[in-house]
Amino acid sequence: MSQAIRIHQTGGPSVMKLEPVEVTAPGPGQVRVRHEAIGVNYIDTYHRSGLYPVSLPSGIGLEAAGHVDAVGDGVTQFALGDRVAYGNGPIGAYAEYNTVASGRLANIPDAVSMEEAAAIMLKGMTARYLLKETFPVKAGDTVLYHAAAGGVGLLMCQWARDLGVTLIGTASTAEKCQLALSMGAAHMINSSQEDVVARVRELTGGEGVPVVYDGVGRDTFAISLDCLRPRGLLASFGNASGAVTGVELGILTQKGSVYVTRPSLAHYVASDDALATNTADVFDAVARGALSIRINQRYALADAVQAHEDLEARKTTGASILAP
Ligand code: NDP
Repeated sequence: MSQAIRIHQTGGPSVMKLEPVEVTAPGPGQVRVRHEAIGVNYIDTYHRSGLYPVSLPSGIGLEAAGHVDAVGDGVTQFALGDRVAYGNGPIGAYAEYNTVASGRLANIPDAVSMEEAAAIMLKGMTARYLLKETFPVKAGDTVLYHAAAGGVGLLMCQWARDLGVTLIGTASTAEKCQLALSMGAAHMINSSQEDVVARVRELTGGEGVPVVYDGVGRDTFAISLDCLRPRGLLASFGNASGAVTGVELGILTQKGSVYVTRPSLAHYVASDDALATNTADVFDAVARGALSIRINQRYALADAVQAHEDLEARKTTGASILAP
């Protein structure tokens, strides 16, 4: 038997319980991973709360790193003891073990620790697809990212700088603004004290930005539209403040024939090849020194409730991980 966080109903953090579970043998093409570190992501709170439906009972968590513990029939690319990580499920990473299709796993380069891999797989691939695929930025562009001191945010600050992009970030405290500036944001706006739209207009000579990356959702949707230049793109990729609902399409005309997309990492790494390309690019950025990983919160697996409470209370910066 092993330990896993499970939910039998959706709701607040306390619905997550540490339970004994069977350690199952991997099926054909699968690899069982014994976790060393587990990534905490905002999407985990949506699965837990029911915003993103899962079939119950369910595990929680999509990202972890560890050692190969058993391989199923037909698995040739991984061997017992290999250092591996995954960042796009399967759900159930908040556990001592998870069983993963071999095509969804990556080898961890020697230069990257287990903790770093668990902290960067999902968030790094997200930063990558937002900057390189959803709106492929070019050197000299200016972009807006909300919650720039967060897990994805600190990676966006660094990757944007690496690509020659001016990133304007928002964050809710002076300390968070300072942190994001130290990690590569060109300008930070304290969203608790400043008028974000006015500051973005000022910083862009009145023009607005060609793209806003918005993982905050409900509270920032209207602000984000107002920060776009005509025919700009709002990439609304998350709901930290709640889901965006009830949008009248006419608003997109009024704001300057702007575009909105609601992207998900899952669709950008749907094939094993796309996943491998994304993963390799993230690890390459780490190896080049373009990305460093800030793990600013560490919890025991048994304290997953606390990890979610802190994340949802905006108490965290950078990445959070659980130790099984
Ligand atoms: P963060 O570490 O960024 O945490 C969320 C941050 O959002 C908070 O720290 C806070 O920063 C800000 N925030 C603003 N309003 C609220 C609110 N009402 N409640 C809570 N937080 C609020 O999380 P992640 O880096 O894990 O994820 C960032 C976003 O990206 C999430 O929405 C997540 O779901 C999304 N995401 C989407 C993916 C996709 O493919 N679509 C993939 C990965 C992540 P501050 O206090 O500075 O405002």
